Amino acid sequence: MSESVHISIKGQPGGQPGGQPGGQSGPGSGPGSGPGGGLGSLPGSHLATAGVALEGAGRGERPAVRSLYIHTPFCAHKCDYCDFYSFVDTQDLQAAFVRRLCAELEALAKHSAGAPLRTIFVGGGTPSLLRVELWRDVLACLSDHYDLGLIRKWQGGDEQEGVLRSWPEAEFTVECNPESASAELFDVLHGGGVGRVSMGAQSFLPKHLSTLQRLHRPERVAVALEAARAAGIARRSLDLIYAVPGQTLEEWAVDVSTALSLGTTHLSCYNLTYEPSTGMTNRLKRGEVTAVDEEVESLMFEHTGLVLERAGLKRYEVSNYAVPGHESRHNLAYWLGEQWLAAGPSASGHVWAGASVQGGGHRFKNVGGMSAYLAGGADGYSPIGDHEPPDPVRALRERVMTGPRLAVGVDVEGVLADAVLVRPACAARLEAAALELVGDGLLLEAVDGGRRRWRVTPGGWLMADFVAKRLMKAVGE
Ligand code: SF4
Repeated sequence: MSESVHISIKGQPGGQPGGQPGGQSGPGSGPGSGPGGGLGSLPGSHLATAGVALEGAGRGERPAVRSLYIHTPFCAHKCDYCDFYSFVDTQDLQAAFVRRLCAELEALAKHSAGAPLRTIFVGGGTPSLLRVELWRDVLACLSDHYDLGLIRKWQGGDEQEGVLRSWPEAEFTVECNPESASAELFDVLHGGGVGRVSMGAQSFLPKHLSTLQRLHRPERVAVALEAARAAGIARRSLDLIYAVPGQTLEEWAVDVSTALSLGTTHLSCYNLTYEPSTGMTNRLKRGEVTAVDEEVESLMFEHTGLVLERAGLKRYEVSNYAVPGHESRHNLAYWLGEQWLAAGPSASGHVWAGASVQGGGHRFKNVGGMSAYLAGGADGYSPIGDHEPPDPVRALRERVMTGPRLAVGVDVEGVLADAVLVRPACAARLEAAALELVGDGLLLEAVDGGRRRWRVTPGGWLMADFVAKRLMKAVGE
């Protein structure tokens, strides 16, 4: 979800709670559809594959990729506001999907060889809809082909380590729906190394769940969280959505306090955004729903920060709050420009073209149609629907776009050093823009660990995207 402040991802700049950069295929994309429409009927082997990015320039220098995103496309129902690639599960494609996914994971594994994986995030779609026996296959495949040592070491989080650190070093997260997540599934997930679940609660008031067309019952959230805890899953995050049509500030306050009462240590709170061509956007255009007033939406945003900070959950990204040590390490990988592999239909990946992100990274996205995805590519990778080759200027723009949205802020020396190399004239422009933003009370300069950081001011969070846009303008197109 995004507001002016919220760049997007189901995990990346601009999007809905969940887990992936880059935006997904539209809601109309069913099992047979493809990227941009029309590719779904083509055999996958005829399409370019992720090998374009993974085997291409820079591979020799690239360090092992430490993060992995897996996209499962199945949902019990298509929610009206959703623009992620998913379709209504009819059970008959699950086994074929997992067979292809495992082949893809095997092909990708060589790119993480030599270092233990740091993060895995399974999103969707609704990963908890996958049948338990198929989950066993996926987890066995991961264990066979990837080094999960660090993930297993950190599976219990700081409770196991006995040390509270600022960020977790490793994690394995699975998104769950409160209705489909069972105690048996959590046991199997925990046995496979999963130490974190991200539960889509969205609201605790039935009328707002109904507006969003979410099918679960609010009371199921507590039941599912308890089942995850009982299975030994130490980190439990909730997703909430605010600015749902008809929602008042008082009702949002109830959602936040209910989430806190369930003992969650991580909350993602995104405002509802009206993505093009979704059912919700069409309802808005027809006048069947009314968007929440912008001023009320801003009050909801501010209320969230105040209440959660008081409860000990620090804002570490504009829409994400955690007890220190419970931040989503995987999402931080997206926001910090790290590398990640991508598996599953419509999954997006990012790998550097050299030893660091400085020269820019390849961004690529698997096809979003199941027929092309299931066909696979001749080289074992997935067919892709999109590929952006490395571009150092784009990489710099991305750093100043995501930095202001993070509590750690922008690494000033790092960004300016890259600017001098990539586009020398913009270094002075960046400093001048930052100075103006400091004068406007939106940015402050801090020194952390001996390094300068540009951070949005406590009162500037609502304007984080504005700050990012000013810095991006200084970099130029
Ligand atoms: S459950 Fe999540 S991924 Fe599935 S349709 Fe609803 S919002 Fe989209």
